[in-house]
Amino acid sequence: IFPKDIFIHKKSSFKFIILTLFVIILATKRNMFLNTDSKYIWMNGDFHKWNDANIHLLTHTLHYGLGVFEGVRAYSNKDGGAIFRLTEHTDRLYKAANKVNIKIPYGQNELNDLQKEVLLKNNLNEAYIRPIVFLGAEEMGLRATNLSINLAIACWEWPSYMDPKTKELGLSIVTSPFKQYENSLYSSNKIIGSYVNSIMALHDAISRDADEALLLDSKGHISEGSGENIFIVKDKTLLTPTTKNCLNGITRQSIIELAESFDISVKECELEYDELISADEAFFTGTAVEVTPITKVDDSIIGSGSIGPITKQLQETYTKIVTGENNNYSHWLHPIK
Ligand code: PMP
Repeated sequence: IFPKDIFIHKKSSFKFIILTLFVIILATKRNMFLNTDSKYIWMNGDFHKWNDANIHLLTHTLHYGLGVFEGVRAYSNKDGGAIFRLTEHTDRLYKAANKVNIKIPYGQNELNDLQKEVLLKNNLNEAYIRPIVFLGAEEMGLRATNLSINLAIACWEWPSYMDPKTKELGLSIVTSPFKQYENSLYSSNKIIGSYVNSIMALHDAISRDADEALLLDSKGHISEGSGENIFIVKDKTLLTPTTKNCLNGITRQSIIELAESFDISVKECELEYDELISADEAFFTGTAVEVTPITKVDDSIIGSGSIGPITKQLQETYTKIVTGENNNYSHWLHPIK
């Protein structure tokens, strides 16, 4: 080994250690699972230990992406824990399933109760909940019709997705080369296969040192983030794209209602890129990001470069609601017990 090689070797092990630390930090902060040994997943009528909730390799949905899912969240509060807008999430799941001709073999109330049961079984008050509906392995090919319809519900600890600094200083986003689907079937429903586009857009954004992607539709109008809805504030009015070409997020709907309760006028419209970069404030909404400011779009700084007053008001109100500190919206909370 030459000294230069040792140097390179040392340099790459240093890089490796830094990278490993980064992955560990990310894993604990963002979206990886904690303490799964004692966790259970509900699938087709039974609880299975976390690592035993397995499916067949020829599961149709694994090959072709036809299936639907939801992303739901429960928060701790002084009485234990509650699921935020559970009935709306379940309703969206059933509507999506209907659109792709999947008849979920459980009723909506049953699925609501099951999501609470999964949290109870796993001793979780604060968690991300993932119901998923997928087609079985009885046949292969696009023509397959004799497929079982399977329902599974997993949940895991997920105290916070965005760190407090990001919630204050905001995200930097870049315009994605990946366009929003023209067919609203894919943009308006949480269909498993549709998320390939979101993943490609997000990975591209991260590779360009941004935090998130900004998806435009085929006409160049603003659509949404890879997993978030977008709002801007201009002259004290909230503007957000219509749901013609983006998911009608449950957080989006909540923020529209909250803004109106504060007498902030809200316009759902075709939003232009120029309006975004000249906005007073901009923010994302979503079950994961809640309300998080956007402070940079491509090379443009938005507003003051950190959270603006209207975003802050909505962000704080949202946090109080989900954690049960605002009784005006207790009807949005579904106690786990
Ligand atoms: N858009 C997309 C593409 C999403 O995946 C999500 C997350 N479900 C959202 C928007 C935000 O929706 P919600 O507020 O219901 O989480």
